[in-house]
Amino acid sequence: MVSKNGTTVSISGNTSTGLSVRARAETRRVRLSCPGGRAAPATPWRPYTQAVHLLNADLHSHSTVSDGTLEPEALAQRAQARGVELWALTDHDEVGGQHRAAAAARAVGMDYLTGCEISVTFADVTVHIVGLGFDPDDAALRAGLQATRSGRSARAREMAESLARVGVRGAYEGALKYVGNPDLISRTHFARFLVESGVCGDTHEVFRRYLTEGKPGYVPHRWARLGDAVRWITGAGGIAVVAHPARYPFTPTVEYALFTEFVAHGGRGVEVVTGAHGVAEQHKYADMALEFGLLASRGSDFHDPDESRTELGSLPDLPGRLRPVWGALQDRIWRAR
Ligand code: AMP
Ligand code: MN
Ligand code: MN
Ligand code: MN
Repeated sequence: MVSKNGTTVSISGNTSTGLSVRARAETRRVRLSCPGGRAAPATPWRPYTQAVHLLNADLHSHSTVSDGTLEPEALAQRAQARGVELWALTDHDEVGGQHRAAAAARAVGMDYLTGCEISVTFADVTVHIVGLGFDPDDAALRAGLQATRSGRSARAREMAESLARVGVRGAYEGALKYVGNPDLISRTHFARFLVESGVCGDTHEVFRRYLTEGKPGYVPHRWARLGDAVRWITGAGGIAVVAHPARYPFTPTVEYALFTEFVAHGGRGVEVVTGAHGVAEQHKYADMALEFGLLASRGSDFHDPDESRTELGSLPDLPGRLRPVWGALQDRIWRAR
């Protein structure tokens, strides 16, 4: 039930969503405030099935527009079928799939937030910053992403030369066969070629033996600056989020510096529940979120049905003591309906 002022929603269990999987059939009341006193959306509420922090949100995934293997439309259908209630497509350094993803989500009756994952160099380490809920047509954001993508082709040629030196030939052309967006050749495409040609058994083995620092095929690269990436996202009306923080090889001191600078530049969120985090990392970054006053995000980082360790919509819930990032983006969610 929705009250006429559109702010208080009484929610009853709905077995047509991920609820049956997640076994949360009891009725809950959720307060969804309407920012800035905006009128309630014309589209009637589809009832959320869970309290806000228990929403099955998956705000990190990749399509053929970067290094995923499913088209945005197929990804939307898969997410909805796996019980995702709020989805974001977050292709690397690229927003070219955003209008397709938003339309596909709408077509299957799933809420959507715009997304991207920006490659940043911080203290000589590659860090990924996810942007959520921005205007995908913002000119400064698009120019920044274009500049970030621009070195990828030359880097890929150097990667192929490095692989050739250890006897792996034709890797550039081989990787290109997997590329859906000529602007966005990535290590993942090389990994798929190395599996196809029998050099490795799976893509995880590729990254253990090749393409990472100190291994054949690795080419150091300078990506965007942290402050620039955060400003492109916030300037386009979005929220910047530190992606999968446990994946970076930082000392505690440098990690603290990353979070401190990120907040100073206007960053507001951190992924606490992701495919890359075990239980210990979820606890650690839940504490970091509270310490730095950050909103918490949740995303699988899904790339492909066979390669990805975490399926869309299958993550644990966000710890209840955290503020979910989607609570601060409700006006964007409504706008996309
Ligand atoms: P790039 O942006 O070209 O450096 O490629 C980075 C992408 O490689 C990541 O987004 C992942 O999709 C993939 N990747 C990096 N490290 C690994 C790993 N250890 N196992 C599997 N995939 C990885
Ligand atoms: Mn990727
Ligand atoms: Mn990433
Ligand atoms: Mn990712």
